[in-house]
Amino acid sequence: MSGDPGEFNAGEAFSLVGETALITGGGTGLGLGIARAFAAAGAKVILIGRREDVLQNAVSQVGGGAAHLVCDVTDFDALDGVVSRVTDQFGSVSILVNNAGIHIKKPAVDTTETEFLSVINTHVTAGFALTRRLVPAMQKNGRGSVLFMASMTSLLGMPLVVAYSAAKSAYLGLVRALAVELGPQGIRVNAIAPGWIETPMLHKALSGDTQRRDKILSRTPMAKFGAPEDIAWAAVYLSSRAGKFVNGVVLPVDGGASIGF
Ligand code: NAD
Repeated sequence: MSGDPGEFNAGEAFSLVGETALITGGGTGLGLGIARAFAAAGAKVILIGRREDVLQNAVSQVGGGAAHLVCDVTDFDALDGVVSRVTDQFGSVSILVNNAGIHIKKPAVDTTETEFLSVINTHVTAGFALTRRLVPAMQKNGRGSVLFMASMTSLLGMPLVVAYSAAKSAYLGLVRALAVELGPQGIRVNAIAPGWIETPMLHKALSGDTQRRDKILSRTPMAKFGAPEDIAWAAVYLSSRAGKFVNGVVLPVDGGASIGF
C-alpha cells in the first residue's frame, strides 16, 4: 500500500470536472438537487423535463453553465432527436440520471391499465430507452455512469402504490442486468433508493394523509424526512471516481427506513 497522499485527494476523488451529465426530471425536487450537487462538483449539467418555465428557473439555480431541454421522456419517438440535440450541443453524455417520475396513489383495484402503463412507461421504459441511446457513446469512450432513482417500494411492500411499486421494483432487474453487461466496458450502473425526501412529489403524496405521514416517521429510525441534498451527494459519490468500483448496487439513502422496525 502506497503512502502517497495524492491517492487520497478528496477533491479529486469526488470531482465531476470534465463530465457531462443528463438528468431527467431535473427541474424540481431530487433532480434539481442532483443537478446542483453535480454542478458544484464541476460537471456540465443538462436538465430534461416537460415544463419550460420550471426548467428555466432550475437552470438559474444550478448555475455553472447548466442547460435544459424540454422533452417528455415517454415520447419515445422523440428521443433520438433529443439525444442528437444534446450530443451536438454538449458532446457525449458521460453520466445519465434516470430520475423523472410520477406517482399515482389509489387502491390497486381502482388503478386502470392506462394509469399502470403510464407509470411503468415514465420510470421503466423511458429510463431504458434513454439508457440504450446514450450507452453507445459511453462504450466508445470506455467509461460512463448510469443511475436510476429507485424507491423504498423497490424494497418494501407498500399499500396504494401498485404501479409505482412495480416500476421501482423493475429497476432492480434493470440495474443488475445492465451492470453485468456494461461493467466490463467501464460503464457502471447503480440506483439510489431514497427514503422519504421533502419534494413536490412527497408533499402531493402525503397531502391530507396524516396517518401515512406518521407511519413513515415512526418507521424511519432518524424520525425525519430527508432533504434533496442527501440524495444528491450520494449521486455525486456513485458517479465520481470515488465510486469507481461500485457497480450494480441499489443504495438506500433513507435515514434507516429500510432496516427499521
Ligand atoms: P418531483 O415530482 O419533484 O420530480 C419528478 C420530476 O419528473 C418532475 O420535475 C416532473 O415534471 C418530471 N417528470 C415526470 N414525468 C415526466 C416525463 N414524462 N418527462 C419528463 N419529465 C417528467 O418529485 P421527486 O420526489 O423529486 O421525484 C424524483 C424521483 O425520485 C422520482 O423518480 C421519484 O419516484 C423518486 N423518489 C422520490 C422520493 C421522495 O420521497 N421524494 C422517494 C423515492 C423515490
